[in-house]
Amino acid sequence: MCSTCGCSDEAEARLTVFPTDHEHGSDHHHHDHHHDEPHDHTHEHEHRGDHGHLSETRTSRTLRLEQDILARNNRLAERNRGWFEGREILAFNLMSSPGAGKTALLERTIRELGDDIPICVIEGDQETTRDAERIRATGCRAVQINTGSGCHLDAEMLASALKRLDPPRGSLLMIENVGNLVCPALFDLGERKRIVIASVTEGDDKPLKYPQMFHAAHIMILNKVDLLPHVPFDVDRCIGYALQVNPKLRVLQLSVQNGDGMAEWYSCVREEIGLHEAAN
Ligand code: MG
Repeated sequence: MCSTCGCSDEAEARLTVFPTDHEHGSDHHHHDHHHDEPHDHTHEHEHRGDHGHLSETRTSRTLRLEQDILARNNRLAERNRGWFEGREILAFNLMSSPGAGKTALLERTIRELGDDIPICVIEGDQETTRDAERIRATGCRAVQINTGSGCHLDAEMLASALKRLDPPRGSLLMIENVGNLVCPALFDLGERKRIVIASVTEGDDKPLKYPQMFHAAHIMILNKVDLLPHVPFDVDRCIGYALQVNPKLRVLQLSVQNGDGMAEWYSCVREEIGLHEAAN
């Protein structure tokens, strides 16, 4: 977990619901700060002037805090999972670095599958409601979570957003995580499948540089393949690295822009829906 960029339970998350409704004006949700939790304890120690073993103490304390935060998140993620099961909702967690094409993939998917499959979206970004507005333009219901200084969604933020979104029974929930290949990999949201989106405009060694993300994912989408003639990207090398990190990874190559490979993605979605229905 990143301990310097503000991705802790201290981060404040704000929700914006689309389409806006009678709740307009109360969109800004602030999480409780859990003042009985360990981070207050941390401040006490840091200010007490005990420099003798501060570095070592701080390291072990940081590790313990990370474990506490992740354990708490995992408990809340299990609650979300139960919530999804009770409503037969299939949830995907979409993760990537910024600009890989998560929102564009969702827009096209909703336009081309939305008539057959009820789809709802939760959008995660540090600031702005731009992505939720793009999703809303497709006619799909969307909730925006703004994480402020936080660089990932967590299970508690998701639970708050679910109450606002109220996705219908049997729907497909697409969760677009904050653009980041590091911290989102560690935070279970209660989703059924984790999808990492890479693109050919990035380095083909991303799976080696961010192995936790590719290890945690079930599906890897390699987007923007229409740009391959123009960029020095080795597809075989990238996929080889990804499978080296995670031999079970399912890999799809596509271009949201020109539609190449989208049919395979839709087959994958339908297959997951079928498996989900069979399991319920
Ligand atoms: Mg986006």
